[in-house]
Amino acid sequence: MSGPAYDDTNIFARILRGEIPCKKVYEDAHTLAFEDIHPQAPVHTLVIPKGKYVSMRDFAARAGDDEIAAFVRAIGKVAALKGVEDDGFRVLANTGINGGQEVPHLHVHVFGGRPLGSMLTRN
Ligand code: AMP
Repeated sequence: MSGPAYDDTNIFARILRGEIPCKKVYEDAHTLAFEDIHPQAPVHTLVIPKGKYVSMRDFAARAGDDEIAAFVRAIGKVAALKGVEDDGFRVLANTGINGGQEVPHLHVHVFGGRPLGSMLTRN
């Protein structure tokens, strides 16, 4: 483990176990992508590894090369499936306390469908 221990009760672990539904966008052996329940842009899809990784910190430290490759390729596939490749999109991984991470299972947000403005909001 790199950082805090993985919590099997987190909401994305429950989605992976099929205990709660999701609106699936893409799936392969290592990765699942589904629509964010509170979209903040016309396209707002979450991409998660199926393995038990708390955060990008944890994933970068412990994941296998096959998992990392699948994750990055899945992000590209999601951008294509959602039709935002050409107009552009934003990939965001909130990490840890200062990153504002709420769900302790690694996820990246894929945002698109409109101009997304400056990189950070102030609050
Ligand atoms: P973060 O702040 O980066 O941890 O983002 C967590 C994201 O998970 C938020 O954008 C939530 O809207 C989203 N979320 C929480 N619960 C669900 C759920 N059951 N299905 C889909 N998205 C969810």
